[in-house]
Amino acid sequence: MNIETLCVQAGYEPKNGEPRVLPIYQSTTYAYDSAATLGKLFDLEEDGFFYTRLANPTLDAVERKIAALEGGVGAMVTSAGQAASLISILNICNTGDHVICSAAVYGGTFNLFNKTLRDLGIDFTFVEPTISEEDLNNSFKENTKAVFTETLTNPSLDVIDIELFAKAAHAHNVPLIIDNTFATPINCRPFEWGADIIVHSTSKYMDGHAVSLGGVIVDSGNFDWTKGDYPMLTTPDETYHGVVYTEQFGKAAYITKARTHLMRDLGTQASPENAFLLNLGLETLHLRVKQHCENALKVAKFLEGNDKIEWVNYPELESSKYYTLAKKYMPNGTCGVISFGVKGGKDEACKLMESLKLAKIVVHVADARTSVLHPASTTHRQLSDEQLVDAGISPNMLRFSVGIENADDIIEDLKQALDKI
Ligand SMILES: *Cc1c(COP(=O)(O)O)cnc(C)c1O
Repeated sequence: MNIETLCVQAGYEPKNGEPRVLPIYQSTTYAYDSAATLGKLFDLEEDGFFYTRLANPTLDAVERKIAALEGGVGAMVTSAGQAASLISILNICNTGDHVICSAAVYGGTFNLFNKTLRDLGIDFTFVEPTISEEDLNNSFKENTKAVFTETLTNPSLDVIDIELFAKAAHAHNVPLIIDNTFATPINCRPFEWGADIIVHSTSKYMDGHAVSLGGVIVDSGNFDWTKGDYPMLTTPDETYHGVVYTEQFGKAAYITKARTHLMRDLGTQASPENAFLLNLGLETLHLRVKQHCENALKVAKFLEGNDKIEWVNYPELESSKYYTLAKKYMPNGTCGVISFGVKGGKDEACKLMESLKLAKIVVHVADARTSVLHPASTTHRQLSDEQLVDAGISPNMLRFSVGIENADDIIEDLKQALDKI
């Protein structure tokens, strides 16, 4: 089926007389009539629900839908995008291991990797998103266990050459993990370009209404863990009666271990109600993403033609250095987020932002409502002017998340605010 149909229909199939709409199973527990049946579930010999920290029917349906959208063998939803990124690494890395990560990743991911996971003894090398194949190959070490990047980076909007990253990762028998939050499976399906594991913050376009935090990990099933050095997947797990994940679960080894090992131990489960809201968002993902992209391109072109604007960063503008890569990996559109610089500097940028009426100032992107943020005085305010430059944040930069209103109204709002500076 086509992706639009999967957005609406995948994951939940009611049997005769059951609710047509995916119900919220607000229950932590599930009733059984025999110890033997429950024992089989505990031993992972049979599929079924026994405790919501491990699985729940509402979450299960949403997981099936997202796996279908990305073309994976299985998925696991989490309490937030941060938990998905954390588990994607911890599932295959121990103290003493090393990961290569694009330097242009979401700030929360950077802190998680560069500080928290480093403190736990996992080493990271951060590489430029535009790194050459040769330099990327030279970044691998004996103990490298994964390569991590975003498809379309938040907030700098770098477009990653997924095939180049996948090729280098596979040449060293390690998987490529991609955060596909900004592109969404509507605009890019990284498994088709060689990625092995996908993570998302579902709090952005997937939810799309800014109502529920969430994350997800999707397993392509394509990576052969027995070729690399992943004893946690290829040798017995004593906490599950010696199960060897690659032997018992084959293509679904990684995602099964993420659930039975890390979700069990960490408890970063999504709530059934949030999963229900996420499913509602997913039902219109294809429509909303299309509208976000159409509107954003119109807004980006308007801003590029305005003489009070110094620069506009949007991969679908022909002036973007990522135009060719964007057309290759995301031919139907990229995302609704734009950044631009206001002539003058910080004061003019803030004045413009505060003069907007329709676009509200929020610390969030990628929901239905147009929103705006001045990173230098909010999300990045702890940085010095020098550090701001290093982080690619100029004092006159605004981050503009274009919503799904009528593009003319968004542009009118920008016009009246531009008139005030
Ligand atoms: C927001 C975001 C995250 C973190 O997700 P939360 O749901 O806020 O925990 C991770 N990656 C990207 C690209 C994001 O935009």
